[in-house]
Amino acid sequence: MNERIDGHTLLIGLMAYPIRHSMSPTMHNNAFAKLGLNYAYLAFEITSEKLPAAIDAIRTLDMRGSNISMPNKQTVIPLLDKLDPAAEMVGAVNTVVNNNGILTGYTTDGTGFMKSLADENLNIIGEKMTLSGAGGAGTAIAIQAALDGVKEISIFNQHDKLWSNAQRNVNVINEKTQCKATLYDFEDPDIFKSEIADSMIYCDSTGVGMKPLEDMALVSDPSWFRPDMIVFDTVYAPRTTELMRVAKTAGVKHIFNGLGMMLEQGAEAFKLWTGEDMPVEYIREQLFS
Ligand code: NAD
Repeated sequence: MNERIDGHTLLIGLMAYPIRHSMSPTMHNNAFAKLGLNYAYLAFEITSEKLPAAIDAIRTLDMRGSNISMPNKQTVIPLLDKLDPAAEMVGAVNTVVNNNGILTGYTTDGTGFMKSLADENLNIIGEKMTLSGAGGAGTAIAIQAALDGVKEISIFNQHDKLWSNAQRNVNVINEKTQCKATLYDFEDPDIFKSEIADSMIYCDSTGVGMKPLEDMALVSDPSWFRPDMIVFDTVYAPRTTELMRVAKTAGVKHIFNGLGMMLEQGAEAFKLWTGEDMPVEYIREQLFS
């Protein structure tokens, strides 16, 4: 790192709170070093109160940009100059690019999800997906999948504060894309089971399976899954979730945690800042093997 930093090094940030656990600084700095790019990526603990000053600092310090994570993904929007159309539809930003003081917001979580499937030679375009959750991850996944041409999405959410977000996602998808989206709650297990049975992919974006719910899965009966389907959990810590264990018992061939999505959302942001392709396989080996 010391050998790389000089008077021309461009700074990229990560603005969130809490953030010290993030793998993004290691991921991006390893990729810059591998490609010999003169950038440095640093994590900053930025609460909602500090966000306006932090975004202004991107302009003042002529930073190349920043990743944005919780709790700032929505509140950052009015502080930016422009919004990519997908970020506008998702209503959240996880990447900011600074072009001569003009800050544009993007979302790369959804493209990261789709790219992580493409990396495994899996194509869900024209297929049906059942998706649990409509928070940050679930919204990005649903909207990008719909934009990319997934035919039908059945979204399940519990009646909590994210229910209205789930309603909004379904409306946006039905109004602005060719995809047919339907919202259900989890109350009737027969509907949940039959929607999964009818889908090529089941994706859980709820975080159930992560601490403190690491022994839980929204689907606990292996007979709900078919061996030829895809089961995707956005959780990446732990690496194997209870849902993934249930899918394994069912003999499901394509079972994924959220690491591939994490890597590809980072690669997408990396490309936006540097114009270069992240050396994804190298980073996958460095970080995840
Ligand atoms: P969020 O709080 O914005 O949304 C959580 C969603 O899960 C909501 O729809 C909520 O209604 C639902 N939910 C919560 N508890 C539930 C329960 N007990 N039963 C049923 N539904 C429940 O969270 P988020 O930012 O979308 O993150 C969700 C998960 O996705 C986390 O595990 C996070 O680490 C992961 N994630 C992964 C990536 C990646 O790149 N792999 C990116 C973003 C988030």
